[in-house]
Parts: sequence; structure tokens; C-alpha cells
Amino acid sequence: MLTIVHVIVGAAIGKFVLSWPIALALAVGSHFVLDALPHADPGTLKPQSERGSMNLTDLVLASIDLAVAFGILLLLVGHPNYTASVFAGMVGGILPDVTSGGFHLFPTLKTPRPTAWLFRFHRGIQGTVDKKDWLQGSLVEFGVAVLSIILFLL
Ligand SMILES: [Zn+2]
Repeated sequence: MLTIVHVIVGAAIGKFVLSWPIALALAVGSHFVLDALPHADPGTLKPQSERGSMNLTDLVLASIDLAVAFGILLLLVGHPNYTASVFAGMVGGILPDVTSGGFHLFPTLKTPRPTAWLFRFHRGIQGTVDKKDWLQGSLVEFGVAVLSIILFLL
């Protein structure tokens, strides 16, 4: 799922969870649940066999996604609902992708390491839809984002 959606969901979690460590943990957990939902992301445009590897287009799209996500993060700093829990939720929401990104960019890092199981799990649960289902997948992302924005603004 897009980083933007993970940040928005993390903000909504942080709004309702007053303890920032719990908000952080729940947001990390939400990341895996959201990734498992059928959704459209840049991988939708690729055949199954090419998913999991990054090319220049993926890097550009991921950079834009991450930049917009950080923009949202910074934009919410001045919002009346912004708290340490909201910040922790947003950070927790993107943490799994940020920690995995380096292994996509530098495949030689895929040698045994302490977090290899987490990386395999993260990659294995991806619910990225095929190109023919891009509309349904996009609606899932859009719906989750809109619902989370509404919850955050309540
Ligand atoms: Zn992810």
C-alpha cells in the first residue's frame, strides 16, 4: 500500500490512542494488515515475477510517495488534533517500508541478517492486485485513506 495511506492511517490511530508507544506499535501492526488487503500500488503495473525488485521508475514513484507522506506528516504538526501519539502513529505506519527499502535498493544486503524473517513476511503478505484489477485496488486505497482522514478530523 502507498506510504501516504500508511501515514494517514497512523495519524488516525494516534488520534484515538493516547499512549504514544502503543500508538506506534498499533500503527506498525496496521501496516501489515493494510499491506495484506487487495490494493493497487506501483507493483500493480508489473508482472508477478518482477515484483519485489526496484527499477528507476519504482524508485522515482517511491520517492514521490515518501515525500508526500512526509509532507502530510509536517502539515499535521500545526493541526489541533496533532499529539505525540499522532506523530508516533504516522512514524509507525511507515516504519516497515522504511526499514525494508534499503534491502530493495541494495539486494546484496539480502544475506542472512536478524530481520530477514520480517522482510520475507512483509514481502509475502503483499496484496498487490494485478493490472486488470487496478480500479478495485485503487478504490481500496482511496477508501482507507478517506475513512482515516474522517476519523482523524472527528
Ligand atoms: Zn509495506
